[in-house]
Amino acid sequence: KANTPSLENYWMPFTANRQFKAAPRLLASAEGMYYTDIDGGKVLDGTAGLWCVNAGHGRRRIAEAVERQLTTMDFAPSFQMGHPVAFDFAEKLAAKAPGGAEAKLDRIFFTGSGSESVDTALKIAIAYQRAIGQGTRTRVIGRERGYHGVGFGGISVGGLVNNRRVFPTLPGTDHLRHTHDPERNSFAKGLPAHGAELADDLERLVALHGAETIAAVIVEPVAGSTGVLLPPKGYLERLRAIADKHGILLIFDEVITGFGRLGTPFAVDYFGVVPDLVTTAKGLTNGAIPMGAVFASRKIYDALMQGPEGQIELFHGYTYSGHPAACAAGLATLEIYEEEGLLTRGAELANHWQEAMHSLEGLPHIIDIRTIGLVAGIELASREGAVGARAYEIFTDCFKKGLLIRVTGDTIALSPPLIVEREQIDTMVSMLSDSIKKTG
Ligand code: PMP
Repeated sequence: KANTPSLENYWMPFTANRQFKAAPRLLASAEGMYYTDIDGGKVLDGTAGLWCVNAGHGRRRIAEAVERQLTTMDFAPSFQMGHPVAFDFAEKLAAKAPGGAEAKLDRIFFTGSGSESVDTALKIAIAYQRAIGQGTRTRVIGRERGYHGVGFGGISVGGLVNNRRVFPTLPGTDHLRHTHDPERNSFAKGLPAHGAELADDLERLVALHGAETIAAVIVEPVAGSTGVLLPPKGYLERLRAIADKHGILLIFDEVITGFGRLGTPFAVDYFGVVPDLVTTAKGLTNGAIPMGAVFASRKIYDALMQGPEGQIELFHGYTYSGHPAACAAGLATLEIYEEEGLLTRGAELANHWQEAMHSLEGLPHIIDIRTIGLVAGIELASREGAVGARAYEIFTDCFKKGLLIRVTGDTIALSPPLIVEREQIDTMVSMLSDSIKKTG
């Protein structure tokens, strides 16, 4: 029985989630914009895997770079002795750091995932405050409806109340109010307009806790996994200003927005607001090998390097920080992004993307459509008593037909590989539209 792959041959006690149960289909290979399932059926990838395969699937150059590296040297502990490929990758990343040379966000800590990047950034922020004599600043502030992975740091600053209810969270965390207001954003093309007043919520938390207790505030510039929530105009700028006023560090979680998703290399470049730390993962290696990276300002890096004998003050590093194979994958990925202009391709396609997505307006159940770069959030009215049920039905129907979308609550999220062609965008919209019309 075991030799022919078929669904019945697989018993999946722990990996199966709601989406899998709704539309069981095993994906076996991937090339360009498409997955192929074990029966040979094609699935158009509307989500770049999980927001990570920005250069499209099956890139030989990445595979070959990884193979070359693994046969040359499989592993070396990079935070103890270093190896050339980690230095090469760090140098290339530094040259492309968020905000360009002026932002000076070009000091890099490697991690193994987005969640590790978040933990790393939170620790760096607290360690930095201590290094500059601000040891009482240990509190970290996130935002409701933020998503920062599933580490204890990430769920503690994260805005998913269910995660915080199930697990004990880190002490000394609190949350800004979320920025989503469907009434005020409804079907807006571009950013909603009422940002600055919302960012003043940070003043509320400063008054409540005392600035001297707060190390950092972390937000996703555009929240992806909780429904594609766009920052209202002026929000990020005001957050930056309030943080500066009170000596609080600002962290942008760019695990999703990094590496071209918004049509700029990073959200920092899109919004022109420079934080102190930027967390990344996903598109860093095109999803091929798990890896993350935290970009830190020189100010932070220099303060942390002033420990005894120039040692880093922070005791921090993962076994797989700067893994040679991951660095090789990352180097090849950066070359592809550069040669194919992918980090700005989203800007070229943004108009087509926006028009295509907004053409769904007027279909049943849709209460809002939000687009930015090559991301869209299509929000549906909840079916009574069943948040997400309608969106899951649409997901299931699309997946059966051969389109992969993502469901976050009652919002359908789309974020294709940045190599997507205009016709493929149109195909996505027409498949999605059929499925929405079918849903009761
Ligand atoms: N931060 C953000 C903004 C994310 O979207 C994610 C993952 N979707 C994470 C952190 C966690 O990344 P990972 O799943 O690689 O740990």
